[in-house]
Amino acid sequence: MRWRGRATSTNVEDRRGTSKRVVGGTIGIGTIIMFIAYSLLTGEAPIEMLQQQQQAPQQTQQTSKQDDELATFAKVVFKDNEDVWSKLFQEQLGSRYSYPKLVLYTGHTQAACGMASSATGPFYCPADHKVYIDLQFFKDLKRKFGSSGDFAYAYIISHEVGHHVQNLLGITDQVQSMRRRLSRKEYNKLSVKLELQADYFAGVWAHHIQKTKHVLDEGDIEEAINAANSVGDDRLQKRHQGYVVPDAFTHGTSEQRMKWFIKGFKSGTIKGGDTFNTNDL
Ligand SMILES: [Zn+2]
Repeated sequence: MRWRGRATSTNVEDRRGTSKRVVGGTIGIGTIIMFIAYSLLTGEAPIEMLQQQQQAPQQTQQTSKQDDELATFAKVVFKDNEDVWSKLFQEQLGSRYSYPKLVLYTGHTQAACGMASSATGPFYCPADHKVYIDLQFFKDLKRKFGSSGDFAYAYIISHEVGHHVQNLLGITDQVQSMRRRLSRKEYNKLSVKLELQADYFAGVWAHHIQKTKHVLDEGDIEEAINAANSVGDDRLQKRHQGYVVPDAFTHGTSEQRMKWFIKGFKSGTIKGGDTFNTNDL
């Protein structure tokens, strides 16, 4: 995939190389005097001031050149997604697309959905409209599964943006609201449909990015498919348990993931990805 020198997204929170450490017992007498003075003057407690005091200075770690390259790459892919989805929302739905944010972090970071850590893998948090990515995941993926090539990473980022699209379309809420009424087995089935639709949307993104920017190289789609293959639940479960348990699937099989990605890549339409009203997954 050709990405060097191309425009990058500005909707990015780069939290790499920083870790906030909350320190207890460090509020000195000076702070207390300032606190009282502030309260007397304004009649309110300067909560923010106290919170700032309780956080130690941010620790900066050196980020490697490889990390910086991956970060730039992720920002280019994010920008590509912004371009595609804002256009598609306008043209196919007649509505305005609201941009998600990309959070790049190392180790762990706070999301509105809870704590994000490298172990979680990339994910989208519907509560804060942010895609969380620890670049270590991409490096691990390459090491563990042998997935190579930029486009495989682009596919995974675009799958997460696909979850944002579902959120904007109200699909995420619908699935969530059914959670309590369904058995675990039934809910898992629904959650597979949600995942496969995100794969479909990643395919839609690939369709338009090739049509408008001609940035795909030969073999890119195969790379993306290999990535889908290597993160399919059957593969993951085989690695962890040595066997496959279909009812515990949450992402769909590798074959299903490939199928829906290609479907999206061929059609390029939002409406063609209705994984919910079909028995043919
Ligand atoms: Zn997903």
